[in-house]
Amino acid sequence: MSRSVLVTGGNRGIGLAIAQAFAEAGDRVAITYRSGEPAELEKRGFLAVKCDITDTEQVDQAYKEIEEKHGPVEVLVANAGVTKDQLLMRMSEEDFTSVLDTNLTGTFRVVKRANRGMLRAKKGRVVLISSVVGLLGSAGQANYAASKAALVGFARSLARELGSRNITFNVVAPGFVDTDMTKVLTDEQRAGIVSQVPLGRYAQPEEIAAAVQFLASDNASYITGAVIPVDGGLGMGH
Ligand code: NDP
Repeated sequence: MSRSVLVTGGNRGIGLAIAQAFAEAGDRVAITYRSGEPAELEKRGFLAVKCDITDTEQVDQAYKEIEEKHGPVEVLVANAGVTKDQLLMRMSEEDFTSVLDTNLTGTFRVVKRANRGMLRAKKGRVVLISSVVGLLGSAGQANYAASKAALVGFARSLARELGSRNITFNVVAPGFVDTDMTKVLTDEQRAGIVSQVPLGRYAQPEEIAAAVQFLASDNASYITGAVIPVDGGLGMGH
């Protein structure tokens, strides 16, 4: 049955692969974008909605448009995220708070707004995209790792708060994935990372999408508050 799905940051990278997987399964998929032209995305059948998740008003407007065109969001994938890497000594307060504002508070904004429709429908699926570094830590990424670790506490609290309403909250924690986010790494840094990954390679965005799709499927009806690693074994034991 076709569902109303929203993927934040679905215009590229992991988000786009997730959006594509849901669309191929027959769902009505809305994605958010901030910059660029949505024409190409609309040609692919997505409802492309302009939205910066650091702005509550824009989030509300995006939901209004999606609700009008696709109906209330039944599956939310909170994927949008940013990095601003810096060693603590050189990390400004703005570097820290802006990453938290997107990755954590931005996720709060979209989840809170989705909750309205899900409560009314007495069902819903929420999947948050965290990262292996949230639990493993990463030198130079204290802001990013803190924001991604916080998503686990956020999801688990909501799993407890809203389980009785048939809304599940799960977290996917990807390892290193081939996207724009990791293209900035040097060949040497990439080789160093790959040497730590038991499967010996980066993930493709589609491999993250598969886990997200599972968590949103009927097969995952009894899974909530879980953290699913899709990291080639990098974070084993966490
Ligand atoms: P990209 O940098 O390729 O894409 C990031 C996406 O987030 C873009 O769509 C971007 O929109 C969107 N975004 C960023 N800030 C905002 C904002 N304020 N409002 C709305 N949208 C925003 O990253 P990936 O695809 O690699 O990452 C997707 C998610 O997966 C992120 O949460 C990331 O932290 C996580 N992740 C990625 C890993 C990797 O190795 N790549 C590993 C583990 C986790 P726009 O195009 O407008 O900038």
